[in-house]
Amino acid sequence: MDIVFNCPNCDQELAVDQSGAGSQIECPSCGETITIPAASKVTTGSLPANSPAPTAAAPSAINTSAAAKVELHLKVPVHDKPAESLIGKAKPPLEVVQKGAGKRLRIRTIRRAACIENGHDLFDDKVASFLQDVGESNIISTHVVGYEQFDVGIQKIMTDYGLLIIYRG
Ligand SMILES: [Zn+2]
Repeated sequence: MDIVFNCPNCDQELAVDQSGAGSQIECPSCGETITIPAASKVTTGSLPANSPAPTAAAPSAINTSAAAKVELHLKVPVHDKPAESLIGKAKPPLEVVQKGAGKRLRIRTIRRAACIENGHDLFDDKVASFLQDVGESNIISTHVVGYEQFDVGIQKIMTDYGLLIIYRG
């Protein structure tokens, strides 16, 4: 009595002597090492019962391996590519926006002479107020500057000072 079953790899119908049940053979069609199914499954019926048992086993084996392969193949690109594109493409624009687009390097020079109102020297107040507006984290550096200007009122060249502030804003 022969066991008739289908190769789980290539679906080739194979007939093997019942004594071969449970042993491994090489499929003559595809060369895959396959296990001959037990005779009990086969003997429950001729063809209709035969095919369901082996084909039920075979397709499930194929399906699981195929599903596993498909799953693996799908998971890698599906998970990796969007993640890469999100991280790789989204990050730089954000940094560019934060550092480049919104804020520019700016320079402000505050001269002491320009801070004198009604005889009061408001230089310190104006500088403090300006630095406060810019915000400490946006101040890159400050430089004391000296300058000379011709004072029309007293017809003399006056030496004065101010503060040059480099900041982001
Ligand atoms: Zn085969």
